[in-house]
Amino acid sequence: MFRLALHWQILIALVLAVIAGVLTGKDAAIFSISFYAIYAFLGSLFLNALKMIIVPLIVSSIIVGIAGIGGGRGLGRIGGKTLLYYVITSLLAILTGLVLVNLFTPGIINGVPLQSIFNLDSGAAAAVTERVAGRGIADIADVFLSMVPSNIIAAAANGQMLGLIFFSLVFGFFMTRINEAYAEAQFNFWHGLHETMLKITDWVMLFAPLGVFALVAKVIAGMQGEDLATLATSLGTFFMTVLLALAVHMFVSLPLLLKLVGRVSPRRHFRAMSPALLTAFSTASSSATLPMTMECVEKNAGVSNRTSSFVLPLGATVNMDGTALYECVAAMFIAQAYGIELSLTTQFLVVTIALLTSIGVAGIPAASLVAISIILAAIGLPAEAIGLILAVDRVLDMCRTTVNVFSDSCGAVIIASTEGEAGLLLDPQRQPA
Ligand code: ASP
Repeated sequence: MFRLALHWQILIALVLAVIAGVLTGKDAAIFSISFYAIYAFLGSLFLNALKMIIVPLIVSSIIVGIAGIGGGRGLGRIGGKTLLYYVITSLLAILTGLVLVNLFTPGIINGVPLQSIFNLDSGAAAAVTERVAGRGIADIADVFLSMVPSNIIAAAANGQMLGLIFFSLVFGFFMTRINEAYAEAQFNFWHGLHETMLKITDWVMLFAPLGVFALVAKVIAGMQGEDLATLATSLGTFFMTVLLALAVHMFVSLPLLLKLVGRVSPRRHFRAMSPALLTAFSTASSSATLPMTMECVEKNAGVSNRTSSFVLPLGATVNMDGTALYECVAAMFIAQAYGIELSLTTQFLVVTIALLTSIGVAGIPAASLVAISIILAAIGLPAEAIGLILAVDRVLDMCRTTVNVFSDSCGAVIIASTEGEAGLLLDPQRQPA
């Protein structure tokens, strides 16, 4: 009852947010406080609440989950399946994007590369160039280095998820290998912490409709008339290509995997995940959505904490299907727009870098832009070419984040199913694997 109500509440909030954003724009004010500032304030409050939960929730969840898996063999098996799932789905997403971007060639309109019809917004482009300057393949190595943090407290404080996850995995693993009395005390402590964090997550979720309203109203109110005009003309095909590719992945490829490998009903899964998907859409951040994702996967989809605590936190940073797809389409689009014909080998390079960088991209808004600049550098295009896609990046970010979160959740269900978990998605037809 509550579950259904929540997702409808969020959906209604989303529609109201679009209306409110259009009506108020950036300047309308009440008692000389602009509505835009009110949206920004409420949105940040909600985001902060979600972020506040992340560190204790993730750490306790992984420790309890890994301690539950116990022996090295169980862990190795789930780990292997999880990585396989991440790689297969990310590759599938990238290839979907690659086919569609070659089919629609959004960078070329009526045979003319966009660059010659399109004036780069030099201000915005310069700002991004500054942000991404000096980024290169070496950043990918840094990602792997950050997996083993030299200071675990600093990792937690700076939101370095990979380091935190690695430490928690190791901690949970060795916690079961100490004297029984200590092991039990440790387990009870972390279990209690985890339960408490779940209760806090429940409570924060009650505010999701308000948070979603504020976040989306802010995006809509902040859109300039020119953004919409640009979107309608030159960037329209790019926008639609990305949307279509994301839709194919989310509504065809992943549901097929759910049905064929997970043997669960995709429709039920969409329903179970809807609050998390709507939150991902409005926050454009997989990391901030993580508490909601875990809640929906465990409570609504019925996946055990043992599986979800392994697949989801790791997935939120490592498995980004939407992001990988977007990186590939965006880089190809920019190459087309600059009138550059990419050979098959170069396209293969784009695919590989998109796969690798999507692993390292943080689960925060606009994180892909850095990864795209790495690809552009690798194929010899100037970083400021990113300016081409800035006007539409935010909305596409919301969509690709939704796909990122959805893929993580499918992974959790599919792996739980292959591990023989019963009662997934409360499907009476389903036979445990
Ligand atoms: N915003 C995305 C996420 O959090 C990352 C990106 O593609 O920019 O999943």
